[in-house]
Amino acid sequence: PDTATAELIDAEAAHVAHNYHPLPVVVARGEGSWVSDVEGRRYLDLLSAYSALNFGHRHPALVAAATEQLGRLTLTSRAFHNDVLGSFATALAELAGKDMVLPMNTGAEAVETGIKVARAWAYRVKGVPTDAANIVVAAGNFHGRTTTIVGFSDDPQARDGFGPFAPGFRTVPYGDAAALAAAIDEHTAAVLIEPIQGEAGVVIPPDGYLRAVRELCTEQRVLFIADEIQSGLGRVGTTFACDREGVVPDLYLLGKALGGGILPLSAVVGDRDVLGVIHPGEHGSTFGGNPLAAAVGRVVVDMLASGEFQSRATALGDHLRDRLEGLLGSGVTAVRVAGLWAGVDIDPEIGTGREVAERLLGRGVLVKDTHGQTIRMAPPLVIRATEIDWAVEQLKVVLAG
Ligand code: PLP
Repeated sequence: PDTATAELIDAEAAHVAHNYHPLPVVVARGEGSWVSDVEGRRYLDLLSAYSALNFGHRHPALVAAATEQLGRLTLTSRAFHNDVLGSFATALAELAGKDMVLPMNTGAEAVETGIKVARAWAYRVKGVPTDAANIVVAAGNFHGRTTTIVGFSDDPQARDGFGPFAPGFRTVPYGDAAALAAAIDEHTAAVLIEPIQGEAGVVIPPDGYLRAVRELCTEQRVLFIADEIQSGLGRVGTTFACDREGVVPDLYLLGKALGGGILPLSAVVGDRDVLGVIHPGEHGSTFGGNPLAAAVGRVVVDMLASGEFQSRATALGDHLRDRLEGLLGSGVTAVRVAGLWAGVDIDPEIGTGREVAERLLGRGVLVKDTHGQTIRMAPPLVIRATEIDWAVEQLKVVLAG
C-alpha cells in the first residue's frame, strides 16, 4: 500500500545529496497544524520546520499576501527599489524597537551578515586595529552551516572535515557570565549567542544570564548579537526570547518564521549607529529584500504586532509543560520548556530520540530528535490544547512500549 512513499523516497535517495536523514514520510499537503502524506495519512506537525511554521501551514493571511504579490511583482534585485521593502522594513523595525533592517534570505546569511556588521563596527567605530577583531560565541551553539559558522561550532558532525576555518572566534561555556567576562578583551567586537539554544535541545540559560550579557556588553563596549532565528517571533510567548529577561540586544538575527513558512526571509535588525556602518557595495544578496518575501514578511510582522500568537504560545506552552512533566520518570528523564517549545530527554532504556520519533510517526505525530536522546517539540502556535493532549498521549503510548 505504501508504493508511492517508497518510490518517492527512492527517487530522493538516488538524486538528492544525502545531507539529511529524514523520517520515512512523504508529505504532500499541509494546513494549520496538520500535514498529510502521499498515502493520505494525517500527522500533527510538532516540528513546524524548526519553527519556520510558527503560524502553521498555509496561514490564509500569508497565502493571500503571497498570492497577491505573485500577481504583481516578484523580484527586482536591489539594483532598483521596489514598493514593498520599505513598508516591511518599517514594520519590522518598529516591532523590534530598532531603526533599521538588513534583509537577507536564510538564517545562516543573517548570521554571516551580523558577523560582518560587527567587524565593520569594531574597526570603523570602536577603533579595533585592522583584522584584530574577535567575536565571543557559546559552546553548544548552532548558527547555521556555512564554513565560517561551522568553524565556531563545537559539534564534530558540523565541523569535522570542512576546515580550514576562519579565525576570530572564541568559545565560552553557555550560561556562564563569568566565563564570558573573562573572554572579552579590548578587541572584542561582539558576543553572539542564542537566547535559548534550540538545536542543542532547547537549552535555557540560567535566569539573569541574558541580563548579565547585556550589562557586560554595554560596559565593555561590545555588541550583543542575539540569534533569535529559532527562538524569536512568538515561539517562547514573547516576540523575542530576549524579552523574557527584558533585555534588548544591539542586533537581532531573525529568519525562519519571518518568511511565514512560505519562503526564505531573514534579517538583521539594529540601530543606525551599528547597521549604518555598512555602505553600498559592501554587502548584499540577489534575492535579499525581494518584494515577494517582503509582502509575506510584512503580514508576519503585523500578525506578531497583535500579540495574539505570543499569548497563545504562553498559554499553550504552560499546557504543554504540564502534560510533558507528567511523563517524567515514565521514559522521560528531563523536560525543558519555553513557551511552546520543548526539549524532551528520553530515557536510553526506552530508545534513542530517533527511535521515539519513528514510533511517533507511526502514531501520526511528527517530531525531530536532536543530539541522540532528545526530541524537540515546536508545534505551530495555532495548535489547540486538545491536539497537544492527543500528541502527548501518543508519546505516552510510545514510551510505554
Ligand atoms: N541560527 C539558529 C539559532 C538556527 O536554529 C538556525 C537553523 O536551525 C540557523 C541559525 C540557520 O538558519 P538557516 O538554516 O535558515 O540557514
